[in-house]
Amino acid sequence: MKPDLSVLPSLDRLTNALAGEVSLPRPLVVTWLRRGLAGARAHLLAGEILERAKIEKELRAGLRQFAASRLQAVINGTGVLIHTNLGRSPMGGRAMRAVAEVAQGYSNLEFELASGERGKRAGYLEEALACILETEAATAVNNCAAALVLTLRSLISPGKNEVIVSRSELVEIGGGFRVPEILETSGAKLVEVGATNKTHLRDYEKAIGEKTALILKVHRSNFFIGGFTGEPTMAELAVMTKKAGIPLVEDLGSGALMATDELAPIDHEPQAQEQLRAGADLITFSGDKLLGGPQSGIIAGRADLVARIKKEPFFRAVRCDKLILAALQETIDDYLSVKEGGGVADVPVLVFLAAEVDELRKRAEAILKKIPVELGEVTVVDSIARTGGGTMPKSEIPSVALRMIPHHSSAQKLAKRLRLSSPAVVGYIAADAFFLDLRTVFPAQDEALLHALLVSQGTDAEVG
Ligand SMILES: *Cc1c(COP(=O)(O)O)cnc(C)c1O
Repeated sequence: MKPDLSVLPSLDRLTNALAGEVSLPRPLVVTWLRRGLAGARAHLLAGEILERAKIEKELRAGLRQFAASRLQAVINGTGVLIHTNLGRSPMGGRAMRAVAEVAQGYSNLEFELASGERGKRAGYLEEALACILETEAATAVNNCAAALVLTLRSLISPGKNEVIVSRSELVEIGGGFRVPEILETSGAKLVEVGATNKTHLRDYEKAIGEKTALILKVHRSNFFIGGFTGEPTMAELAVMTKKAGIPLVEDLGSGALMATDELAPIDHEPQAQEQLRAGADLITFSGDKLLGGPQSGIIAGRADLVARIKKEPFFRAVRCDKLILAALQETIDDYLSVKEGGGVADVPVLVFLAAEVDELRKRAEAILKKIPVELGEVTVVDSIARTGGGTMPKSEIPSVALRMIPHHSSAQKLAKRLRLSSPAVVGYIAADAFFLDLRTVFPAQDEALLHALLVSQGTDAEVG
């Protein structure tokens, strides 16, 4: 039987019908629908029976899904502070204003205003980083993965390319970051020492040879090992590596600048300054995890090693752009000013960490009061927030959430309606109820959150 292609709607008619439903540039809608229609045509030619209404319904749903994939702000009700899928750390207002200023005009990015000559890119930031980290030198690149690859590349040489790592630290961080693969990418040769649960100082010592370029420690960010475990301290390792004349590098991942255990009843995440003080020659960490700055990777420690890293040609390929530099510079300056004056830096994740449970409960109750009973069974409950972003997997932060069981729908459908609302709201589902944790919601978003809840009573047919 010949396929009936007449069921295919016309591109023009479909574009006119659907373009108004999504706020996307019309050429993009046309391109997207043309591809969708070609797909439907292929199905028809392959002998599938499709009705026009079904084709239109699927294209409409697909187009809406495509429109929702456009990068946009989201209200994070998951209680996960550094949520990698939701953009990791939000940035403080101070950093954002600095970005806007540098972005909208010209800047002294590589220009020395005093002499009127070509200047050093990120010179001020590097000084500020070294100052807050209480170390000799520092620099920043695009992310921590790049920082680590770059560091390894610059510290290895032909015939001296072995990097010693404990077997307990050959971790996968997520998003395709695996320590053994990062080593390979950099051209280094991995030398594994110790056992999964225990690595002794003598294990490292025995592995050191002619070809050893450095010893690498990797912070086990996203998991923990317990029980019969052990490893030498940073200070013990440092004594040994200094004697052997080889650099000791630690990839910290998050690398807090503040004592996290003083902000909230959680673990003490290794502080960047502590690890340097304990004897690491170089450390690397992310700018957008607990630091709360823009996506970037910071390298800090011995001045001679940082200088070598900056001379590596690969440095040019992973250097930060002016917007990142502006945001990072402002964030670090902010940390430096609170170091002197006290208080917490204008960094949302730190503010969220330090928020009192009673404050969160008050906000949740204020929202609850305005929710009509028709919405479902809504209560304010105790919950657990987490730092996330591959940091402190054991740490549970006491928090408060709105728990919702819709009357005429399911928790899954409510969750989807909220994800597709404007602004998008993301929560989580547990035991058939939908939860919105207040710890990761900015107080200024409470109104918008309530509004999203009120308009979320649409029909289930809309979300499919
Ligand atoms: C997160 C993490 C990285 C990767 O950092 P990016 O900034 O995402 O590149 C590297 N190492 C450790 C230990 C991490 O936790």
